[in-house]
Formats: sequence, structure tokens, C-alpha cells
Amino acid sequence: MRSIICPLAPLAGQLVHVVRFTGSRRHLHADNQHKMASPTLKPLKRVGILGGTHGNELSGVYLVKKWLKDKTPVTRSTFETTVCISNPRAVEKCVRYIDTDLNRVFTEENLRADVEIPSDTNVPYEILTARKLNKVFGPMGPYSGTDFMLDLHNTTSNMRNCIILEREEDALTTHLANYLQKLLPCPLFLKHNRPKDGFRLVATVNLAKHGISIEIGPQAHGTLVAEVYQRMEEITHHALDFIEKFNQGHEFPECTVEAHRILEKVDFPRDKDGELTAMIHPKFQDKDWEPLNPGDPIFLSFNGETISYKGDTTVYPAFINEASYYEKGLAFWAMEKVKLTAPTLKVQE
Ligand SMILES: [Zn+2]
Repeated sequence: MRSIICPLAPLAGQLVHVVRFTGSRRHLHADNQHKMASPTLKPLKRVGILGGTHGNELSGVYLVKKWLKDKTPVTRSTFETTVCISNPRAVEKCVRYIDTDLNRVFTEENLRADVEIPSDTNVPYEILTARKLNKVFGPMGPYSGTDFMLDLHNTTSNMRNCIILEREEDALTTHLANYLQKLLPCPLFLKHNRPKDGFRLVATVNLAKHGISIEIGPQAHGTLVAEVYQRMEEITHHALDFIEKFNQGHEFPECTVEAHRILEKVDFPRDKDGELTAMIHPKFQDKDWEPLNPGDPIFLSFNGETISYKGDTTVYPAFINEASYYEKGLAFWAMEKVKLTAPTLKVQE
């Protein structure tokens, strides 16, 4: 196979693709240690657990179905737990969504139009569903009726026990991540926190004041892998135990965790018509979280050419070859490592 050194992002009409890391790259070093202010938190009284936000991610679907029959395993003494199949029609059809991705529609404008909608209108099913969820768990924002949300997902990527953090300044979720990491390996995926760079918090988990998504893989969509299901169940139980300990007055000393924060979305190489011209390279497949260095192979063209990563620093890839991201123009996320430091956490009675 011929090897060509090639950067990542598409230039229209060319087989060879160039990616330049933008914006955030410049403050990579200045900004990779984040220390947050001391939180004052009341007890968490209401916790939501969602499965089936993506209807074909079956670990969460079947865990929630089980807990709907018997809530004992997710019941704790200090808070009320609400379990819910969040996208029921997508679950029924075993598809990711019916009209649009539910996990991207929680915007103020979608939720604000809170009026009765005639059934013959063309509003996407997931926007109607988001409004229903907002009534049950919201209203989305700082005054939400839900204190904490766990949203259960699977990925076809080798992401292992990935915990997705929405906000880097949330001391509660940072302490939860630290608690989980002491019990089992849980890599942290941190969404970008700078709205000016075009990232918005639009996921279902944002319905609550705090929350995490649990993203376990690899598991093909529409299938169940027993040990993936068991890992998701175990992490959910640990997360509920953490909230119980917090409510009971346990003091969590200052902690620092290592997270991976989004730097850049990297698409597959495509031709001028948008057709794929390459696949994930065999040497890159399943290498989520492992360092990707300049010159390492990332794509293999349909003609057998290796396309290598051309950047000037090491990055850490995540969601490599996730099936549902092909339509989103995403071959993998390039991430940077950051440290999050949270001050001592203790409930304020
Ligand atoms: Zn999902």
C-alpha cells in the first residue's frame, strides 16, 4: 500500500483533505487546567434516568424497561427516581430517531413554542417529544424540576465506559466522575464549553440542573451485548450511590480528574459529491482514547492508500467510526487532555 501523508478536513472537490485545528488550539496550553468555584448545593431530590433517547441503543432501553417494572434497584432513600423511555416511537421501531435526533433538539426556541400543536402539522416528532420531556423533567434551565439526569447511550465505537460531561465548571459532575473512576475505568468526554466556537448544549441531559450521559461501547446498534449491559447497570448504580452519599452529608474532598475535551470534528475524506473516498484505517480502528501522533494512519482509501494524520501535536481521538455519525459528517472527534479540579463538595442543608 502506498502511504501518503495527508491532513484531515475536506477541501471541496479534492481527494486529499486538509484539516486545520482552529480556535481552541491556540489556548491549548493556557487553558487545560480548569479550577472551578466552590459550589453551594442543596440535596438532590429528584433524579431522572432516560433510556432510548436513541431508540436503537439497547442497553439503556432494556435497563429502563426493567426498572419500569421494578424500580427497587434504582431507588434510594434520599431522592425520588423517575425512569423513562425518552423516545418511545424510535424504540418501538428500533431506530435512532423518527424525524430528527432527539439528543440535539433541546434548544430554547424548540421548547419555547409551548402551544398545543394540531396532530396534522409537520413539526418533527422529536421536537414534540422534547416538549413533553420538558414538561415532565424540566423546565430546562437553572430552575429545572429535576436535579440530576442520567441518560443511557451505546456506541459502536470502542469508547468503553465513557462518561460525557456537559459542562467543565460543574463541580458535582466532576466529583461524580472522580467517584466512578475510583471504582472502574471511566474515560471522560468533555463537551466544548465555549459557545463562541459554535458548540451549544442541546442534549436531553440538559433538561436537569446537573447530569451525565453514560456512553458504553462497543455495541452494534439494535443489538445487546451482555457485558455492555452489565457495565451500564453497574455505573448507573454507582452514580445513584454517589448522589445518595452526597445527600446524606458525605464530604467529598477537592479532586482533580483528567478529561478529554473536544478540539475538532473530523470528517471522512469525501469527493466533490460528498461521497466517501476512504474508510477508517485498520490501524486506527478501535483506538479511541489512545494518542494519535503526527504521521499516524487514520484513513484507508478505497484504492488502498493510507491517509495519515498531519497535525503538529498529539491528540486523543474519540467515537472513531461511530455508525450514527456518518450522516453527521463525523469520522471521529479529536480531543485534548485537560484537568478539572473541583473544590470540596458537601451538601448545604
Ligand atoms: Zn446515543
